Amino acid sequence: MNHVSTSIGPRPLIDTFGRQITYLRLSVTDRCDLRCVYCMKARPEFLPKSDLLSHEELTQVCDAFIRRGVTKIRITGGEPLVRRDIANLIDNLGNRLETTGLDEICLTTNATQLPRYANQLVSAGVKRINVSLDTLDEAKFSELTRGGKLAATLDGIDAADRAGLKIKINAVALKGDNEHTLHELIEWAHGRKFDVTLIEIMPMGEVDAERSDQFLPLSVLRERFAQHWSMTDLPDTTGGPSRYVRIDETGGRLGFITPLTSNFCAGCNRVRVTCTGQLYMCLGQSGSLDLRGALRAGGADALDACLDEAMAIKPKAHDFNIDRGSAPAVDRNMSHTGG
Ligand code: SAM
Ligand code: SF4
Repeated sequence: MNHVSTSIGPRPLIDTFGRQITYLRLSVTDRCDLRCVYCMKARPEFLPKSDLLSHEELTQVCDAFIRRGVTKIRITGGEPLVRRDIANLIDNLGNRLETTGLDEICLTTNATQLPRYANQLVSAGVKRINVSLDTLDEAKFSELTRGGKLAATLDGIDAADRAGLKIKINAVALKGDNEHTLHELIEWAHGRKFDVTLIEIMPMGEVDAERSDQFLPLSVLRERFAQHWSMTDLPDTTGGPSRYVRIDETGGRLGFITPLTSNFCAGCNRVRVTCTGQLYMCLGQSGSLDLRGALRAGGADALDACLDEAMAIKPKAHDFNIDRGSAPAVDRNMSHTGG
């Protein structure tokens, strides 16, 4: 493993509410091989490739965060594994594990490209991945992803499992859509020893549907599950937005991410960088800083100054509201910000 000189700097990233930022979510592309109905339009306009940060620049951005005490980086997108030089980027980051303060690289993926990449991810030091899978119903999967093949995602999951990656399944709960197939998904995932997290839809960017028609409060699902399963609340060990229960009947863990019905911002430890180098301090607010401009104009010092500015302006909480007819909380889609 190469030695990389990215020691932890003396100045941790602490915002004005006293929250320390130790977690970076890095979107490496806004492109995707699926078109999930809640994530993007059927015919999205993707960013010109020339606007994207190169993998060397993405690595420099990561180094700037690692120097300031970030210990965990999640690679996301769009679909991160459709970016052509993704293996180089993940290898570069892998070199930072054990040689810097970086403890963990993880990935959020739709799994379609995992048969090709699972072993490489493991070699680079990735141990855990989140796979987005909203239903095991083939027709429903095709409808929700606008033409995706369930078998391709399941093959990807099998490849990751064989390679030894720890897998968590993330599913967005959609009213009147996949809601009645989620119990089957949970039983299947727990049978394979995968945790599952359910996510409330967030009003991010324009999609072709009315958001309030898609929104299903997870409290409704929880009550419904309680009629069939005994669920025990688990203590919060992740520090993230998910609240977990253990389901006695399946033996597995089920998490709930409820940005709309209960706010988790007080414990926020993260920021997000897009594939064009926009730094977003909050998923549900529009304020951002231009890391690409800073990096190209002033290198590592300018990046560092941007991180100080980010801590000065990180908002207290998101501004999501999903009332009928209300505009999206932010105009960018999740595929742009990085979920
Ligand atoms: N393509 C990869 C995937 O699907 O896992 C990574 C990017 S995707 C944007 C990350 C996560 O965001 C997925 O789990 C997806 O279901 C979720 N997501 C996308 N749009 C969303 C929205 N409007 N509200 C809630 N979750 C959303
Ligand atoms: Fe692609 Fe992920 Fe968005 Fe689905 S949720 S369209 S897989 S980026």
